[in-house]
Amino acid sequence: MELSNFADGAQYIAGRARAGTGTEPFDVVNPADGSTVQQVRLASTGDVDAAVAAATAALPEWSRATPGARSEALLRLSTILTEHAADFAAVESAQTGKPIRLATEFDVPGTIDNTAFFAGAARNLEGKAAGEYSADHTSYVRREAIGVIGSIAPWNYPLQMAAWKVLPAIAAGNTIVLKPAELTPLTSLMFARACTAAGIPDGVVNVVTGAGRDAGEHLVSHPGVAMVSFTGSTGVGKRVAELATAGVKRTHLELGGKAPFVVFDDADLTAAVHGAVAGSLINGGQDCTAATRAYVQRPLFEAFVAGVAELFGRIRTGDPADPATDLGPLVSFAHRDRVAGFVERARGYATVVTGGERPVLGHDGSDLSRGAYYAPTLITGADQRSEVVQGEIFGPVLVVLPFDSDEEGLRLANDTPYGLAASAWTRDVHRSLRATRELAAGCVWVNDHIPIISEMPHGGYKASGYGKDMSQYSLDEYTQVKHVMFDTTAVARKEWHRTVFGDPGSAL
Ligand code: NAD
Repeated sequence: MELSNFADGAQYIAGRARAGTGTEPFDVVNPADGSTVQQVRLASTGDVDAAVAAATAALPEWSRATPGARSEALLRLSTILTEHAADFAAVESAQTGKPIRLATEFDVPGTIDNTAFFAGAARNLEGKAAGEYSADHTSYVRREAIGVIGSIAPWNYPLQMAAWKVLPAIAAGNTIVLKPAELTPLTSLMFARACTAAGIPDGVVNVVTGAGRDAGEHLVSHPGVAMVSFTGSTGVGKRVAELATAGVKRTHLELGGKAPFVVFDDADLTAAVHGAVAGSLINGGQDCTAATRAYVQRPLFEAFVAGVAELFGRIRTGDPADPATDLGPLVSFAHRDRVAGFVERARGYATVVTGGERPVLGHDGSDLSRGAYYAPTLITGADQRSEVVQGEIFGPVLVVLPFDSDEEGLRLANDTPYGLAASAWTRDVHRSLRATRELAAGCVWVNDHIPIISEMPHGGYKASGYGKDMSQYSLDEYTQVKHVMFDTTAVARKEWHRTVFGDPGSAL
């Protein structure tokens, strides 16, 4: 079975690939050299309608499948993903520019583990015990699927984002129409094909490859879509929420981040420096939880800056297909220029310690001039209110700021609109407990930054959105709870009726 043949088109509707009927051909580009990986035809609103119709048709059977049957299908899916791991990694790397080492060791195994997790979780939906919460009634809870989920994903981790959206939704008995980012649709299409190969019925998982403003907005507003699950920037998330709210749809919003990295003066400096480099450069810094603002207590500040600068200088930038490469290009030329714009403007008010340029030679001497590369960039001297401290740059750029008291460090860390993730670096148990309590973020690491696991929730506070991906919490989000109440008395003239009317047969 070949998953990565896209000749039949970049839409996946009712269990088969087809070409979009949007007018414009669109090139999925490898940002390492500007070459076309695949030309696709984008979805029209009519393609979105067809995908929603397919998901609607598949819903009755899939939502009534036993948890065991859904679980078995997901286990088969995890086997198929494992068999095709190398193919997924190669396509993911080509369409995003991420290093093949990251795709092979993080994106793909993470997705396989997620699939296995949701295969187990599908059998473990819980609710309150049935019981007589009123003397005259027996109550129980039914946890039910919501319906057709309309999902929109970003380009930074296309395969993982597809998995984070599709798996809990279908494990809970929903069907889904996923719109990946138009820049990076290919591994989402492969994932949908793998679902079919695993025996998941046609129409349960549909993918529409289209632009945000037409296919995306049409999907979010579609009357056949019961819930909207969105991962992307906070700006687009607000628009999506407006459209979904107009239709009284449930929303799940995983939005932008600007994660702080707080280093107290008793921290292990080597650990903090290495953690900051890995945490800020993962996926070229195009990670919603990436370390973007390091606050370092004054006694360690100079040594921390020197340590990070030294390690940044040793990063191997180059062809993402080369397993030796640490840092590939950014996802597109437009995005690289956007990142560069932040840094150029910062030169007017801060110090660019390292980087701030578009490298033209790779670590092995190769020519990078045709790619969307940007060097690891370290900035100091920026004001807390400045653009590089407050705005989401989404590139390999780390800003380092000093602080004096613990209170000041935590206050500055919380001082952006975002609240997705944060980390605290200290060997003091009291400091770490205080930091984990006071940092306003959906995930707080202590002495690490970045790791995620299938069993634990991922999601934001504040302008980073709401709702959880991964974990049992995400499964809960894709279900609705129904209270069922049975009368146990068989009495026609019930005592409580007197609160409403004076029945002649009652004492009133
Ligand atoms: P984006 O918001 O530009 O696009 C995200 C998706 O929304 C894409 O599929 C796009 O086509 C679609 N879209 C754009 N306009 C739309 C509209 N008007 N209506 C409906 N859909 C529309 O984000 P991006 O640039 O693809 O990704 C980067 C962003 O994603 C960053 O802000 C990052 O922090 C965020 N992100 C968040 C998480 C998280 O878990 N919180 C994870 C990954 C990425």
